[in-house]
Amino acid sequence: MTLRVGVIGTGMIGADHVTRLTTAVVGATVTAVFDVVTERARQVAASSGAASSPSWEALVAADDVDAVVIASPGPLHPDQAIACIAAGKPVLCEKPLATTTTDAERVLVAEQAAGRRFVQLGFMRRYDAGYLDVKTAMTDGVIGVPLLAHAIHRNATVPDFFRGEMSLTDSLVHEFDIFRWLFGAEIAAVTVLPVTTSPLAADGMRDPQVTVLQMAGGEVVTVESFVNCQYGYDVRCEIVGSLGTVSLDNPRTTIVITAGRRSEVVPADWQDRFAPAYTRELQSWVDGLAAGRVTGPSAWDGYAATAVAEAAVRSYREGRRIDVALVDRPPLYPLRP
Ligand code: NAP
Repeated sequence: MTLRVGVIGTGMIGADHVTRLTTAVVGATVTAVFDVVTERARQVAASSGAASSPSWEALVAADDVDAVVIASPGPLHPDQAIACIAAGKPVLCEKPLATTTTDAERVLVAEQAAGRRFVQLGFMRRYDAGYLDVKTAMTDGVIGVPLLAHAIHRNATVPDFFRGEMSLTDSLVHEFDIFRWLFGAEIAAVTVLPVTTSPLAADGMRDPQVTVLQMAGGEVVTVESFVNCQYGYDVRCEIVGSLGTVSLDNPRTTIVITAGRRSEVVPADWQDRFAPAYTRELQSWVDGLAAGRVTGPSAWDGYAATAVAEAAVRSYREGRRIDVALVDRPPLYPLRP
C-alpha cells in the first residue's frame, strides 16, 4: 500500500523532501503540502502532483494524508507534532523537536499518553554510510574501547538570519545527536570555549567555537564549529579507542592531479554532502510505517538534543561547564532501540 504523505513547510528542506518522496522513495506519494508562503506551496504542489492545503491543521486532518513530514521553522514543531499524534498520524519531524526543553517535554507527554511512538526526528546522519561504518567500528571492537572523539563542523557561510547562538542550537544539534548515538550514552555536561573570532564572522557572532561534550560514560568529545569557514561544507570526526582510531572523512569523488598539485572537491553544502542519507532516512521511515513501526530517532532523541543545546547556550553565556539535566527516560524510549 502506498503511504500518502502531507508535508508542512515547503522551504529549503521541505521542498527537498517532497522531491525525494516523489522521485526517489518507493512506497510513498505526497498528497498534500502547506506553507504560509502560499506561492511556494503552490509551486511545490504543482511540481509534485500534491494538493495545496489551506492550513497545516487541515493537512494533518485530511483523509488522504496517512503520515506527515514537518519541515516548518523549529518553534512550530511541538504544536504540529502534537497535532499529528492527536490525529493518530505518524510524523517525521525535522530537527529540532523544539527550541526549548519545556516544549520538547510536551511532545514526550503527548506521545506517552498515546501509548506508542508516532514521532521520528530528522537526524539523518544516522543513515549516512560513513557514520554507519564508524558506528560498526565502535561496536565490533576493532578500535578497542572508544575513549574520546574529535569532530569538525564547518559551513562555508550561513544566511543573514543565522546569528549568535544558532551554531549551537541549529547546527550542533546534529553533533549532539550523533555522538549520543555513536557512544550509546547521554551527554552529561557541555562546555563552550571561546576562540579568537574570525574577521569574517558576522557582527556579534562568536565564530569559530569549540564545544566539549562530557558523555555519561566518561568519554569526551571535542567539536569545532565554524559556520563561516569560506571554503565549503566540511563535516568530519575521529573516534579514538584503546586499540586504534576510526575516522569519518568527506566522501571521495574525483581527485585531480595537475601542475604539481593533487586536489579533490569539498562538498558545497549539507544538501550535497548528505543527499543519500536523506533518501535513506525517508525510505526507512516509509518502510517502517508499512510494517507498522516507527524505528528511527525518537522524540526522546529530539528532547535530549534540545536539552544539550540549551545547556550549551548557558555555557556560552556564562563561560563555564553546564551539566545537562534530563527528565527520567520513559520506557517508551529504550536506551539502545
Ligand atoms: P525554510 O527554507 O525557511 O523553510 C521553512 C518554510 O516553512 C518557510 O517557507 C516558512 O515560511 C514556512 N513556514 C513558516 N511558518 C509556517 C507554518 N505555520 N506552517 C507551515 N510552514 C510555515 O527552512 P528550512 O531550511 O527548510 O528548515 C526547516 C526546518 O528543517 C528547520 O527546523 C531546520 O532546522 C530543519 N532543517 C533540517 C536539516 C537537516 O539536516 N535535517 C537541514 C535543513 C533544515 P517563512 O519563510 O515565511 O517563514
